[in-house]
Amino acid sequence: MSIERTLSIIKPDATRRNLTGAVCSYLEKAGLRIIAQKRTLLTRAQAEDFYDVHSERPFYNDLCIFMSSAPIVVQTLEGDNAIAKNREIMGATNPKNADIGTIRHDFAESIEANSVHGSDSLENAKREINFFFSEIEIVG
Ligand code: ADP
Ligand code: MG
Repeated sequence: MSIERTLSIIKPDATRRNLTGAVCSYLEKAGLRIIAQKRTLLTRAQAEDFYDVHSERPFYNDLCIFMSSAPIVVQTLEGDNAIAKNREIMGATNPKNADIGTIRHDFAESIEANSVHGSDSLENAKREINFFFSEIEIVG
């Protein structure tokens, strides 16, 4: 048992299609607790800062345009092995490769507009949670 926290984002393609609640129910059914949540609209510069690790990748510019194209819902999730568990529930980056029943299989539009983000390591989870939330906004 290792209780972890991870950052989740419900991306613009999902908020546009009014899927916020549907995504939350996948997370909660899997036992993850949403201990902080807010809806926001990133500026292009904020999206570039958040995805800084991908700045050399060919999809970086389009990704930052997409992530600032409509509101997102950012969440801190808590639970046993939350980082890996959330990645499991999300499914593969490319929805064509995602397992049936995962969020990306069931909702994603494309490899870019793939409905959700989830931290991929303890270190990145800390950075990403701090990027969006202050201590008093997280209530475990
Ligand atoms: P994940 O979100 O599964 O951790 P990555 O960290 O590799 O995936 O990529 C970050 C995001 O960039 C993806 O969720 C997706 O929105 C976008 N992306 C990744 N690979 C591609 C690609 N080949 N073409 C377009 N967009 C991509
Ligand atoms: Mg990633």
